[in-house]
Amino acid sequence: DPVSEQSEQLERTIEQLARERDLFEAEIRRLETVRRDFVANVSHELRTPVSIIQANAETLLLGGLDEPATARRFLDAVRRNAERLGQLISDLLDISRIEAGRYEIELEPLSLSSVARSVSCSVSETCRSRSVVFEVDIDPQLRVCADPRALEQVLVNLVENAVEYGPKGGTVELVAVEQDAAVRIEVRDEGPGIAPDHRSRVFERFYRVDPGRSRHMGGTGLGLAIVKNLSEAMGGEVGVEPRAPEGSCFWIRLGKVAA
Ligand code: ADP
Repeated sequence: DPVSEQSEQLERTIEQLARERDLFEAEIRRLETVRRDFVANVSHELRTPVSIIQANAETLLLGGLDEPATARRFLDAVRRNAERLGQLISDLLDISRIEAGRYEIELEPLSLSSVARSVSCSVSETCRSRSVVFEVDIDPQLRVCADPRALEQVLVNLVENAVEYGPKGGTVELVAVEQDAAVRIEVRDEGPGIAPDHRSRVFERFYRVDPGRSRHMGGTGLGLAIVKNLSEAMGGEVGVEPRAPEGSCFWIRLGKVAA
């Protein structure tokens, strides 16, 4: 009978809606946890350098100024931690701009080798401080579809990580490989590599394989999250692979511009 048929259909619709509501509520709870964790992480990351600055300033005021060599050491710790705080704030602002869609991305055809030249200038000081040789191997004809500022920021982040996590006196390579309609840009280092179970997680905000080492080097734990967000905003993809005999190859894939 048509009435009972209609009411059965109505019941099925109601059940379907209830299932969708449950999924929706679970997703809201998940996002709320992500947000809470993020706030907790940010607070923790900000508190550490602030405590160090405070402790060193107090020691200086309580007599540490009397001996110039000691005073210099405390002041140096103050300066390093203020720098780290500054970097953290600037990374956080970048992340929030990207996620709010306020980091303006404009895709245009770019010569990859000219972007590589600006990257090379930006990282020269870091390379020099670790006696690292930076090698670029990119076809001068190769053009990619990208935003110049975002692509440079992505590559500088990857190269600086490669220099910092790789050995002193090592080599870091920036290479581009054509793949059909795409270009795969690779940053290769000779560092310790990343174990398989960490590989998918290093692009998460504040995820570190070795927290002590990263903080010691002034790392914010946000560099790779920025790399991933910016690459995806340019329609690209990112990833990391091991290298033989050792080291990592971080790659980003972007659209190729036909010659
Ligand atoms: P950090 O500021 O800690 O370097 P990133 O987001 O740039 O933050 O990197 C996240 C983590 O990934 C680092 O703490 C480190 O453990 C690992 N990592 C990044 N780049 C490399 C690399 N080239 N070789 C080995 N480990 C790396």
